[in-house]
Amino acid sequence: MICAFKHRARIDFMSHDAPAKSTAQNKLVIRNIGLLLSGELDRPILDADTVVAIDGVIHAVGKAKDIDAAGATTTIDAKGTALAPGLIDSHVHPVCGDWTPRQNQLGWIDSCLHGGVTTMVSAGEVHTPGRPKDIVGLKAMAVFAQRAFQAFRPGGVKIYAGAPVLEQGMVEDDFKELAAAGVKFLGEVGLGSVKDGTTGRRMVAWARKYGIQSTIHTGGPSIPGSSLIDKDMVLETDADVIGHVNGGHTALPDDQIVALCERSPRALEIVHNGNERAALLALRTAKELKQLHRVILGTDSPAGSGVQPLGILRMISILSSLGEIPAEVAICLATGNTAKMRSLNCGLIAPGREASFVFLDTAQQSAGENLLDSIQKGDLAGVGMVITDGAVSIQRSRNTPPATRVPEVPRA
Ligand SMILES: [Zn+2]
Repeated sequence: MICAFKHRARIDFMSHDAPAKSTAQNKLVIRNIGLLLSGELDRPILDADTVVAIDGVIHAVGKAKDIDAAGATTTIDAKGTALAPGLIDSHVHPVCGDWTPRQNQLGWIDSCLHGGVTTMVSAGEVHTPGRPKDIVGLKAMAVFAQRAFQAFRPGGVKIYAGAPVLEQGMVEDDFKELAAAGVKFLGEVGLGSVKDGTTGRRMVAWARKYGIQSTIHTGGPSIPGSSLIDKDMVLETDADVIGHVNGGHTALPDDQIVALCERSPRALEIVHNGNERAALLALRTAKELKQLHRVILGTDSPAGSGVQPLGILRMISILSSLGEIPAEVAICLATGNTAKMRSLNCGLIAPGREASFVFLDTAQQSAGENLLDSIQKGDLAGVGMVITDGAVSIQRSRNTPPATRVPEVPRA
């Protein structure tokens, strides 16, 4: 079994291709789960110790005595560790394969898998050297990136890429054409030549009409060449996601961040490569407004600040320990909240959802009494295993502090 998993992971990486589909039914049974973190904000902890997935989709969640575990093709003994949905990074900037020219680094996506991330959403392939800015070129690049990352999943990580950046001169038919070609997300509004609210709003509405979701860059310029997007442009454009509401990296003044929380109904994205004090302000404001369901997490990497393989785990610990929210709630921000706001079929441990999971346990020698307490004290969780679409992608993480306990795959 273990050999088969390693083989599969290697095949994915080496062949640069999606795993081959098999006609035989694959039944995964995970038992002895010590803590089931659902990803659902209204009910973040479930009273369950067993999960069954068939062909990469969650089939049953409950107590062992109530679940039919017969005929499993793979059984995992969680050894009392916590099971959470695979983490989602709502804001990445991929370019090509598992390489980023921003820091000239190879294997960054695979490193994030070792931080528990199983799904990434592109906020634009904007670091592409020589990125085309004419309309034919930007559309061609978006379709290429969507196709390439659909077929290439480093270690099993699913990347929703092909996120075109708005440029002046785009017309409604461009959005219709992009949607028909499979494009689902726009890159950050404001990173191209569209820098006024009126044009932004018109194009975002066209995108929405054809089922393409939008994100807007919020705050000061991220790198030389980009520019300030203030609260007035964010509110007027009305993109689906207020990208890095805490700046990427330079944040808006506090009163503007509060105004975005209060006056827009859209998703509030908090990123690792932003202003962490502003992150806490946005979180606190959303909490006071009783709108925590709007808060989603990303890294905004690769960036000038680099790549953070543990970025989402770090955001969970930072927001829980300094933002004073329970750890199980912080995990929902990085899973179920993002899945709902981004219309993804992952992020929740519930029947019908994608069977992508991360096994977490208290890091060795943490002062926390248990996993949740350790996160609330600001420590990072240890990752013991990651599953993508019902198959084991990695066992003990090479990147997190070592988990105290790790799941096992008993030999048949
Ligand atoms: Zn940005």
